[in-house]
Amino acid sequence: MSVLTSVSGFPRIGQNRELKKIIEGYWKGANDIDAVRATAKELRAKHWKLQQEAGIDLIPSNDFSYYDQMLDTAILLNVIPQRYQRLSLDAEGTLFAMARGYQGEAGDVTALPMKKWFTTNYHYLVPEFDAATEVKLNSTKAFDEFAEAKALGILTKPVFIGPYTFLKLSRNSEAQELDLDKGLVQAVAAVYAQVLAKFAELGAEWVQLDEPYLVLDKEPGDVELFKSLYAKILPAREGKVKVLLNTYFGHIADVYETVNLLGFDGIGLDLNEGRDENLDAVERYGVNSATTIFAGVVNGRNIWRNNYAISLGLIDALREKTGNVAVSTASSLLHVPFSTEGETGIDADKLKHFAFAVEKLGELKEIATLASKSDEELKADAALAANQALFDGTRTPADPAVADRIAKLTDADFVRQPARTERQKLQREALGLPLLPTTTIGSFPQTKEIRAERAKLRKGEITKEAYDAFIKAQIDACIKHQEEIGLDVLVHGEFERNDMVEYFGQNLNGFLFTKNAWVQSYGTRCVKPPIVWGDVSRAKPITVEWSAYAQSRTDHVMKGMLTGPVTILNWSWPREDITHEQQTQQLALAIRDEVLDLEAAGIKVIQIDEAALREKLPLRKSDWHVKYLDWAVPAFRLVHSAVKPTTQIHTHMCYSEFNDIIRDIDAMDADVISFEASRGDLVVLDAIHDAHFETEAGPGVYDIHSPRIPSEQEIEERIGEILKKMDVEKVWINPDCGLKTRGDAETWPSLKHLVAAAKAVRAKLAK
Ligand code: GLN
Ligand code: ZN
Repeated sequence: MSVLTSVSGFPRIGQNRELKKIIEGYWKGANDIDAVRATAKELRAKHWKLQQEAGIDLIPSNDFSYYDQMLDTAILLNVIPQRYQRLSLDAEGTLFAMARGYQGEAGDVTALPMKKWFTTNYHYLVPEFDAATEVKLNSTKAFDEFAEAKALGILTKPVFIGPYTFLKLSRNSEAQELDLDKGLVQAVAAVYAQVLAKFAELGAEWVQLDEPYLVLDKEPGDVELFKSLYAKILPAREGKVKVLLNTYFGHIADVYETVNLLGFDGIGLDLNEGRDENLDAVERYGVNSATTIFAGVVNGRNIWRNNYAISLGLIDALREKTGNVAVSTASSLLHVPFSTEGETGIDADKLKHFAFAVEKLGELKEIATLASKSDEELKADAALAANQALFDGTRTPADPAVADRIAKLTDADFVRQPARTERQKLQREALGLPLLPTTTIGSFPQTKEIRAERAKLRKGEITKEAYDAFIKAQIDACIKHQEEIGLDVLVHGEFERNDMVEYFGQNLNGFLFTKNAWVQSYGTRCVKPPIVWGDVSRAKPITVEWSAYAQSRTDHVMKGMLTGPVTILNWSWPREDITHEQQTQQLALAIRDEVLDLEAAGIKVIQIDEAALREKLPLRKSDWHVKYLDWAVPAFRLVHSAVKPTTQIHTHMCYSEFNDIIRDIDAMDADVISFEASRGDLVVLDAIHDAHFETEAGPGVYDIHSPRIPSEQEIEERIGEILKKMDVEKVWINPDCGLKTRGDAETWPSLKHLVAAAKAVRAKLAK
């Protein structure tokens, strides 16, 4: 008996980020749209063929995108806000205007908002319905790509974001209720029905509809919405095409019974995240006799080899309930790098532990082959034995010194003394700062020149001494400039850092780095997270020399800049042989060493960035504390608990959506927090007010993600709004994030306005 294999989605950016390069070339005018189309077509063909050669049965199409699959879905459904339609651009022009904004002859519009895709570092564009939205089938992209593959002799499985997830993640500017009888929901369902009918006609065997939103807690009406959508969509199959309802990033135990009763041809379950709940649901409610369970056993979000024995066990568990089990990736492979090929910087005996997208295809096939063998055959199977050898516990030796330090931790190590309100008083005296102190988030523009010097150092074209001298000159200039415009708490500018996580990883024991393991973050932007390979400890002081140098160049307070343990882990590939909690604790101890060394070197204010803390907040509320906050928050406290009362600890977060965890943020026990709050969304100020938030706070007063220079007036008004909600003694004035992606031309005038606005408000308050 052979077992069906299915891939939910494949990375589209290309092995060498070909798509990124050609699209960015198009934006810059270096190549035309035809070149983009041609590269896109080549990439699709290459990716389909790779999957075909790996022996995958259900190969996805329509997983390709120029920018984002949510955006493609919005275009498919004609959910294109008026302001973009009015530009009257061609198809690609409209797509990129929605994705990135447009400024030119046709008009001036901002982009759709962007948000993180569930708990990943991938960002999707948030579709927006407006009063004029007329939902209708508006794109042939999916049909064209299906035909393109068919012409290559490959019958693909078209994939779409499903209507439930699409509606739940969209914004409805006109506040049109998602009323089940109303036009909107029915119109969306009608388009999906049309799509199914069309694929039936084109000869597709399967269509995959992704409904990851099903793994979230349900609000009243959600299940009805889901049922009502699919009651309308599923009849369009007419027995000619099968529908795979795909879920991932968690379990659907609370709706499994409903989903099962609806009679999908396939149900995709994530057997990595939410494994136990999903299996329990299948155990309890069984499987419709016409339904195949797509067992998501190959992790779409890690880089480690699959443990075949575990996967086979999961498949066996499902087979107790149904004979129809296919093996699948747990989610799209979009979130993993392309291939381990070419990673020559990593020894072969280490590299064998990794599986990126291409290697995962091989695993899928191998698991399917093993799943069709008898127990007798498995005992003698060489592939299985070779796989098992990877998990024999000898991958990396434990570091006894790290284990010893962790074993010796006591509750007191997680509590800073004295209490924060007392510290805040002492710090005010010690630092001598004015009311509404001004500061920045850390980085200053990383110019081409700086990146070029770093490249020269890497290639050995300049000496370390020459590079250091260059960085010092940058720091000097940056400090002088900050003094001139009158900022209160200065920073050194982070010129020595390529990236806020990789830079620290490179100076910690236990990390590995890849050359080419890029993953799409948004649009053409990719990230290359480091890998946690072994126990982590600090090899040597990391930032101390730079911060001490910077402090020696000014009489102002110089803020030391560190990345926090939760963010380092969340933006790395974590190990799977020990828990995230354990890894975060190791990282916390390493950063704690750095904090204490900074303090000893005379740094009085230390910022520990936790930019990515909220990103990994579990999707189900019941998991928030037990599975995450209960160890993430203490890990942060461990980093700073041993500093003197007068040393001021800051943290920074790249989002303001923490109303619901405001008490946990306060429990991190930082003295000051800065966060992004400049896009009009000031509800967090209410939360700060209502929760009697103790941490002093700097809600960003202008948006650094845009090149726009805010006026002094504008910032003053912003401060006014903040002061309506917050105690003036607790307010800091700062931009909303680091300035490294900006240019000097907009950075300095903006900061000048910021300082002037703060001074103006101070003067008014003094009266
Ligand atoms: N300190 C970092 C910087 O200024 C923070 C970056 C971030 O929040 N992503 O660049
Ligand atoms: Zn930030």
